[in-house]
Amino acid sequence: MAALNACSALVTGANRGLGLEMVKQLLEAHCSKVFAACRDPDGPNSEVLRELARKHLGVVTLVKHDIADPSSIKESAEKVGSLLGEKGLNLLVNNAAILPQKTMLTATVEDMHNAFNTNVIGPLFVIREYLPYLRAAAKASGKPGMSSCKAAVINISTDSASMSMIPSMKDPFPFFPYSISKAGLNMLTVYTARDLKADEILCISIHPGWVRTDMGTNEATLDTRESVEGMLRVIGSLTEKESGGFVDYTGKTMPW
Ligand code: NDP
Repeated sequence: MAALNACSALVTGANRGLGLEMVKQLLEAHCSKVFAACRDPDGPNSEVLRELARKHLGVVTLVKHDIADPSSIKESAEKVGSLLGEKGLNLLVNNAAILPQKTMLTATVEDMHNAFNTNVIGPLFVIREYLPYLRAAAKASGKPGMSSCKAAVINISTDSASMSMIPSMKDPFPFFPYSISKAGLNMLTVYTARDLKADEILCISIHPGWVRTDMGTNEATLDTRESVEGMLRVIGSLTEKESGGFVDYTGKTMPW
């Protein structure tokens, strides 16, 4: 993954599933600084991440934040900012999410609030709090145009955010709050691409495929390695042409 060589990157939800695999593969791609963000870096669910940080001392930094809590995102951004230096942050991956399993007829107010807080409002505040460092990276690059090793926001989305695919999904569809919140995340991608275009920061939504993680279950068709290899290949090849779009882990355009 030569395109990501020497980049700095921050991944949310980095302690397990796709986020953890992304940290591992960013290290294999020789990213210079990898900020692995999670809710509980000292807890039992972050042991693998702590081992990676010990092994890659000075490259991997564990960052504590709860993306459902804007004040903890702000604190984490201040900490990361103090470690970044003039080159800023090249790649921001909004990966953390929750999947409340409710239908349109069973979702509670709390299910809807939780899904929106974590899957839409969290990524929005992550982008806003880390924006100064993305802007610094875009300025420091000195290269024209857009690329993920210059400055990019990657929002991990899902095929169940695709409005045109919903009518063919199984009935009753059990991921209603998730699906609506991820459609909101896709709109955030479109706004981010538009509003940060002048800063030469690109933004895209990516569907990782159906992947064997706690969220994807063991029945899923892909392992994390294959999904993340595909996503990093796509991320490494992005230009301004793709900014504001929605693709899958193979690079295929997804229908909105
Ligand atoms: P997992 O459920 O395995 O992992 C979710 C991650 O998000 C965990 O690290 C979890 O941390 C973190 N997280 C959840 N809530 C918060 C919060 N409030 N603050 C900080 N971190 C939080 O999911 P996957 O790895 O499968 O999914 C990763 C991304 O891929 C998600 O955006 C998901 O929507 C998307 N996706 C996944 C698919 C799949 O088949 N797996 C299919 C389509 C999309 P903690 O351990 O603290 O709970």
